[in-house]
Amino acid sequence: MKILVLNAGSSSQKSCLYEITGALPDHPPQPVWEAAVDWTHHQGFAQIKIKTAGGAVLEEEIRTTSRPDVIAYLLNSLAQGETQVISQPSDIQVVGHRVVHGGPDYKESVVVTTEVKAAIARLAAFAPSHNPANLEGIEAIEMSLGSIPQVAVFDTAFHAQLPDAAAIYAGPYEWVEQGIRRYGFHGISHQYCARRAAQILERDLHSLRLITCHLGNGCSLAAISQGHSIDTTMGFTPLDGLMMGTRSGSVDPGILIHLLRQETYTADELDQLLNKASGLKGISGISADMRQIVEAIAANNPRAQLALDIYVHRLRSSIGAMLASLGGLDALIFTAGVGENSPLVRAAACKAFEFLGLKVDLEKNEQSPVDQDISTSDSAVRVMVIHTQEDWEIARACWQLL
Ligand code: ADP
Repeated sequence: MKILVLNAGSSSQKSCLYEITGALPDHPPQPVWEAAVDWTHHQGFAQIKIKTAGGAVLEEEIRTTSRPDVIAYLLNSLAQGETQVISQPSDIQVVGHRVVHGGPDYKESVVVTTEVKAAIARLAAFAPSHNPANLEGIEAIEMSLGSIPQVAVFDTAFHAQLPDAAAIYAGPYEWVEQGIRRYGFHGISHQYCARRAAQILERDLHSLRLITCHLGNGCSLAAISQGHSIDTTMGFTPLDGLMMGTRSGSVDPGILIHLLRQETYTADELDQLLNKASGLKGISGISADMRQIVEAIAANNPRAQLALDIYVHRLRSSIGAMLASLGGLDALIFTAGVGENSPLVRAAACKAFEFLGLKVDLEKNEQSPVDQDISTSDSAVRVMVIHTQEDWEIARACWQLL
């Protein structure tokens, strides 16, 4: 089965093609074709990078801000030129989409129908910079490939069974009726990492209590019990919870009331402040990138040190909160850009939990572990680094649904 995966960000578009012959493999296969598109480098232009399993690489910049145009370009590059891997676009059997917000109704992946599209459009009110991009992707495929089956895989779905006590904010009860509750995000990554960890530990996922730490540009934790998320740090929006690259994470909502009263902020300005000018970047004044924060600390920059200290403090206290929701822990899992690549952050986070008998093997932690247990053999809790593979998780969902 040839499965095309589309993963749309607000100013990016990733895509890859998997080819599965026979049974669903246990381990993620290498995609036969991968593309990454970025609109942030050069205004008005899409920077496109495509590579194939055969070693072909294509890098191009095209003048367009249109996602449908770019998707048409990507489909062409699959079927012609040096990055060709299929005879014609109609060889693709299914297209899977990461859809950020599935709201209260979508608790599992679904085949896209007119009704599903209407729901994704409606839920744009909850995820204004993501759901419209996801819908554009679905419609661009309809335009190019007609009635090919498409599957929506929701980032909220893995958290759909959060108990009410974890999901409902202690605001007025009307919020519950208005759908204002914790949805949680990064569910595709949390789910993949949980399953992969169980596979590595040779345990049944349903018997494990796990905390998955997805630490990328966006950061969230999930407390996982009996194979599903029972608590998570992101909330109604992906702004809640941990300190992130440019996002504040949780702040006292009284600060927002104060700012609205004292200054004349508009909703868009507050949005910009909390989503783009906060987090590691806001505190350090240097960068949202953890690598640059660590470099600046080495050069004795006190604001970079403060940014890291806040990041670690928030990470530790939120792991503690997940721990309390689970009532115990079998494995603590690190994933995504920072989680997979920063031994410093992993060691600092784990240090706070030594009293539980959780012990990291510091040598293994330093050796760029991928899909490995980095705890000592006598540790009471496994500590793992898992390379997240969201695109494969989406392809799996397509395979299973069809
Ligand atoms: P996204 O959330 O956009 O998918 P990633 O999971 O790729 O992002 O994470 C990107 C972040 O990972 C970068 O901003 C950077 O801070 C961090 N990162 C990548 N490599 C390293 C590294 N070697 N050390 C520390 N942080 C890293």
